[in-house]
Parts: sequence; structure tokens; C-alpha cells
Amino acid sequence: MKKHNFNAGPSQLPLEAIENGAKAVLDFAGTGISILSTSHRTKEYDAVNNGAVNLFRELLEIPENYKVIFLGGGASTQFCYVPFNLLEKKAGYINTGVWAKKAIKEAKLFGEVEVLASSEDKNFSYIPKNVEIPTDLDYLHITTNNTIYGTEYHTDIDSPVNLVADMSSDILSRPMDITKYALVYGGAQKNIGPAGVAFVIVREDILGKVSRPLPSMIDYRNHIANNSLFNTPPVFSVYMIKETLEWLKRQGGVNGIYKRNVEKAAELYNEIDRNKLFKGTAEEEDRSLMNVCFVMQPEYEELAPKFLEYAAEHGCVGIKGHRLVGGFRASCYNALSLEDIRALTECMKSFEKKFA
Ligand SMILES: *Cc1c(COP(=O)(O)O)cnc(C)c1O
Repeated sequence: MKKHNFNAGPSQLPLEAIENGAKAVLDFAGTGISILSTSHRTKEYDAVNNGAVNLFRELLEIPENYKVIFLGGGASTQFCYVPFNLLEKKAGYINTGVWAKKAIKEAKLFGEVEVLASSEDKNFSYIPKNVEIPTDLDYLHITTNNTIYGTEYHTDIDSPVNLVADMSSDILSRPMDITKYALVYGGAQKNIGPAGVAFVIVREDILGKVSRPLPSMIDYRNHIANNSLFNTPPVFSVYMIKETLEWLKRQGGVNGIYKRNVEKAAELYNEIDRNKLFKGTAEEEDRSLMNVCFVMQPEYEELAPKFLEYAAEHGCVGIKGHRLVGGFRASCYNALSLEDIRALTECMKSFEKKFA
């Protein structure tokens, strides 16, 4: 049976990218050697690394004064890289969920942190609006898509101070104006590749302003100067990013994929709103295109485990909600198709007929 993979991360990647990855594991670029056993200082790997960077630049229209680097350690390590490199006195953070909280915790090790707004009062079911942003901050940090709660910033906000964003789960899912940000980072495993690698897009002039000494591996400038080859990079993950971004380009780039993402999310939310058994958990205007969170209506609560089973029997896997929200979460990243969404909405419809 075809599986419809709604996993939150690591998550579904385009089949073509996975097939090419499998080939490269056996024979990388016709070298007769696996990519897993190839030096990162070869012209073949250079082509991979530069290819991934250039695709990022092209797809997001990244200006010259920004650099794109790939680092090990996932998104969570960036929670400390950012304040290490940028926090001299005070930073502002907006608390929109667990990932934001983890970023706040790390930043406090390096300086004063002002939490400017929080949606914790309603279990992070919305994005705080009209937040007053002081002008004496070294930077403002936001999480553009809250993977666990299914809320998302749908526009690039205006900030009078350097704006830093964790875009782990919505990078390259919609058009964005990179010039509104000073630094954007994220783990690859939601939308663009396998786990273990983080991407960082940084405007170079913001670096080198803090007075603390920086360990070599933490200093973004070393990774920029060495084109992400300062130490051994996660070569296979970067290879998969390149393959995934090539696929994305063939889908019409971010504009093309955004159109599809909007269509996918609309079908699923419409079914959640129509169906007697289910209800959404996020405020309607802040509903994420990437992570669709929903629960059973209170009177049908006891059917939840049964629905998970039923969905799995119909090939829909990975829809169990995060324990902090409960219920269900369908992650609808770029590589997930409308056909996958329809498999799930069909399940919801037939389950309703059976049990409502
Ligand atoms: C998954 C996720 C992270 C953590 O990523 P790791 O690579 O596991 O460190 C951080 N932020 C957001 C928004 C995420 O979705």
C-alpha cells in the first residue's frame, strides 16, 4: 500500500531526491566511490556544496551581502550560535512555543533577554500581534513556523532592529523577503533534507560586533571564509539538500510550491472545519500551512486512538499529535502531495460516516 507520510521531522522528501541519494551512496558522480566515503575536499563535493548554496540563493533571491552556510548540529545548536555571535547586551525574543523557549533559555547564558510577547497563555495557539519592539536590542528573534502547535507568521514582519528567525519548518515553503531579516537559520529535516545539518543565511555586516572571544567552530565568520568546509561537513545531508532544491526548482520554485501548499492546507482545514468529529487547535488566522494540528471534538474524544489506527490502515502515517497538544498533526511539507492530503481527508470522511 502507498504510504502517505505526514511525519513532522525527519519528514517526507521528494522521491526523485531520495532515488538520486541512493545512487550517490553506491556511486557518487561516476567516481566509482560512495559519497559516504568521498573526501569533502574534492571537485565533485565542491560541485555539491556550491550547487546547494547557489540554489538557495536563486530560490530565495538572496542578495550578495548575505552568505549561506551549512553547519552540523541541527537547529538546536543555532539557539546558542546566535547569541554567542550577536548578543552583546540585550536581545528580544517572541515566545511562540517550545522551540522559541529553548532558544530563549540558551540566549540567557549570553546576556539580557527580554521576552517581548508570548502566546503561552493559550497553549501557543496563536501568534502575538502588534508587538512593541524596543530599538535598543541587539536583535529580535522569532520562530516563523511553530511546528508543534501549527501556528505560522504569514508575512515577514517589520523590525527596527536586526531580525533573526528560526525557519526550520517553513523555509522555502513560501516566498519571503530575505532583506527583512539579518539572519535566518533552521534544521534541514522538515522541508529541505535529512536531519543533522542546519542552514544559516546571514547578512555579513552583523558579524564581529560582540566583544567576547568566540570559539573557532562557533564563529560564523570561519564557516563563511571556508565556504562551509571549515571542518568536515555533513556531506550526505548537503547532497540531499542540493537534490531537494533542484526538485523544488522544477516545481516552479517557491512561488510554485507556495501555490500548492496553500491548496493542500485549504483542503485539509476545510475538512477539519466541516467534519463533525474534528476541530482545529490553532487560531484560524495563524494556521500553519506546514503543520496542521487538530483534535477530536470533546464528545468524540474516546475515538482518537481508533482514528489513528484507522488512518494507518489506510496508509496515512505520522499523524499523531505532539504530546503537548495531543490529538493529531499532519505535517504537509513541500514534498507532500495533494494526493496525500486527499488520502487523509477521505479517511476523515469515511471515519465520520462510520462513527458520528
Ligand atoms: C525541529 C525544530 C527545531 C529543532 O531542530 P533540531 O535539528 O532537532 O535541533 C528547532 N526549531 C523548530 C522550529 C523546529 O521545527
